[in-house]
Amino acid sequence: MKSAFSNDPRVLENYNLLQTIGVFDEIDAQQKRVSDLEELLQQATEVFSKTSLESLLEYVVDCISDRFIPEKLVFILQDRSGNVQHYGYRTLKPYDFKIDISTLDQFEPFFIQYPQTLQFELFEFKFEHPETTEKLKSFNPEIVVPIVGLNGLYGIILVSSKIFEPHYFDEELHYLDRLMNFTSITIQNNIHYLSAVTDAKTHLFNHGFFIKRLTEEIAVSRDFDQGLGLIVMDIDHFKGFNDNYGHLAGDLVITRIASSLNHALRRSDLAARFGGEEFTIMLPRTNRQQSWAIAERLRLIIAEQEIYYQGKKLSVTVSLGCSAIHPLNQVDADTLLEQADKALYESKRSGRNRTSVYRPGLLVSATILRERGEVAVLTGGDDSRVSDVDENAPVPVLTDGAGGEDPAIHADVDPLTQGLDGGNGAAQIEQGVGSSYGIWDHCPG
Ligand code: GH3
Ligand code: MG
Ligand code: MG
Repeated sequence: MKSAFSNDPRVLENYNLLQTIGVFDEIDAQQKRVSDLEELLQQATEVFSKTSLESLLEYVVDCISDRFIPEKLVFILQDRSGNVQHYGYRTLKPYDFKIDISTLDQFEPFFIQYPQTLQFELFEFKFEHPETTEKLKSFNPEIVVPIVGLNGLYGIILVSSKIFEPHYFDEELHYLDRLMNFTSITIQNNIHYLSAVTDAKTHLFNHGFFIKRLTEEIAVSRDFDQGLGLIVMDIDHFKGFNDNYGHLAGDLVITRIASSLNHALRRSDLAARFGGEEFTIMLPRTNRQQSWAIAERLRLIIAEQEIYYQGKKLSVTVSLGCSAIHPLNQVDADTLLEQADKALYESKRSGRNRTSVYRPGLLVSATILRERGEVAVLTGGDDSRVSDVDENAPVPVLTDGAGGEDPAIHADVDPLTQGLDGGNGAAQIEQGVGSSYGIWDHCPG
């Protein structure tokens, strides 16, 4: 269109006239508007495709940085249960800002009335809660952006001054406004999705989401030949605790344990409330020994935690079971959970307030080796290759327990021996280690 127009001889004939009356300037301005809208459309598509809150916020920060660089920026988001989370950035890098705001309820009526990006000065003038405005001022905000959606206010963004220029231009505020229209929809979707996959009491992920993520992460660990640890944890004698102190005290303990898990774990780990007083923790890129160490750290944190309820100092202990994916334990999510559960059972059985680790017996290892083509036939006496590749990295404190003699465990693992060539071979390996039905590594209680 543009080239056809500019090649028209009549344009050349009337060039001076068209320039004088501003036709070319108008065309340039329109073209800039079209390209801005195209960019916004492309950013909207990108914003809608983000599946995690972190990646969405990162992308929004990237978009903003193409236009200007604020010194500080913080997203204050409130989920449907009323929990407020801060996501701060300093010169576009994640930064841990704490603004003393525990609810956005006060802001909601205001932003329902003025659902647009505002200069902070104007906001301060119109918003009738000076004590809250004072708290926001600790951030030196220049701009306030509301994130308003179908169900009301989902969050606000505070933007401080730019690092290179003194003030924001109208078109920058306008751009923020339009970008936030799309962003707020994705944030709403994300918040609704999070409520569907988290447990309302503890805000940890729920059972269904945990299994889904565990299954995905097992596939990743297989593709990249990485370890993956799993911990299951259960509060000791919790029924008695409830009977003694009441259910509300029990609820408080459950929420405190959940927040201890959140604080103690890495960002890439995933903790879930698996059921009533049972928790599961997935540890990507973590081997069996490291999983044990992490489980022990969690156990001690919980055992040492003092919880005050109605003037009483309460405490609980937990028992833990670990299992891990490694080259000789390439199992699916259900089996990995079953293994960790057996280890947990062993912790309970042998006294509670302790961690046990599931280690597949040599028959399990041998079967996997055979499936991988690394051992063709296992015959009597030749178990050296099996023990050579067993990943028995010693766990710091080891006691081989009686797991091998446990009939339940025996019966469980037994079918695996059927895959081995030659019953003699299987029997030989079994004799070689004394037990091939799972070995329990304990730590002292
Ligand atoms: P063990 O050491 O063998 O695990 O003993 P236990 O008493 O913890 O085991 P049991 O499975 O018999 O009891 C679990 C108890 O946990 C029973 C249930 O009332 C309590 N529980 C489960 N979910 C909640 C909850 O959300 N709040 C409270 N207060 N108690 C809960
Ligand atoms: Mg239980
Ligand atoms: Mg229990």
